[in-house]
Amino acid sequence: MIISITESCHMGCSHCMDDAKPCEKHMSMRTFQDAISFFNQFGGLECLITGGEPTDNPEWLKMLEYALQHVHGSTGTGIAHITLATNAMNIANDRDVQYYLLHLMERYRNFSIQVTHVDQYYPIHVDLSQDFFKCDRVVVCTKIEAMYPLGRARDNNLPWKSKCCKCFNIRSATRTFRDLSKASILLAMNGRFCTPQVSFDGKLKLGESTLCPPCSSIYTGTEQLIEDICNFHCNNCDMVNAYLTPEQRKAIGE
Ligand code: SF4
Ligand code: SF4
Repeated sequence: MIISITESCHMGCSHCMDDAKPCEKHMSMRTFQDAISFFNQFGGLECLITGGEPTDNPEWLKMLEYALQHVHGSTGTGIAHITLATNAMNIANDRDVQYYLLHLMERYRNFSIQVTHVDQYYPIHVDLSQDFFKCDRVVVCTKIEAMYPLGRARDNNLPWKSKCCKCFNIRSATRTFRDLSKASILLAMNGRFCTPQVSFDGKLKLGESTLCPPCSSIYTGTEQLIEDICNFHCNNCDMVNAYLTPEQRKAIGE
């Protein structure tokens, strides 16, 4: 499950599937605490804290600390992993923040950082040669795994590669189990933990992009939440879904 703590980002990538720009759409601490409770009820075992660029939220470090202290996931084992997914712009220029993050990684073995920086698309250089980025719990990604025709990727006609919409897995698994926690666990066990997404205002989105329309809310009761997911429709990715088989379309109720 993703918790998007802001929609703001100053990087300006040409491929941004969120169409992220500097803005004030930040999650509040209160909503973040509620999002962590929602994760502990429905989110499975992998919590990805991101944005936009998460470090644009003025309270991002406090939120991270809160998550590390309170997250236990919905598997019943008390075990969950937290990843901070960032472009590292604000971290690369701040040694104090680097030391503090290293301290948190030392203290919490269930915490790691994913830095994405792809020269081709990221216009602002980040110095990844610093020791901080060589820590074994900091994973640096230098290529885009899956491009979708959303946001600036679509506006700039960039080549996308995908078999189905990003919300396909969580929609089909929730429809199968009629249970969001089981669906999240199944997806995480298969390395697919980027959906669903809690947006900055507590709305629930089923795809990874902040441009996905809201489907429900973290404040919706469990029965209605499952109904909302099972009855969700969105045509924004019809271009991608044109390749689905009739059985696959049926699995997401299309
Ligand atoms: S892709 Fe990531 S780093 Fe680039 S503009 Fe979008 S949110 Fe920012
Ligand atoms: S835009 Fe709509 S169809 Fe595409 S991933 Fe998001 S919710 Fe799914």
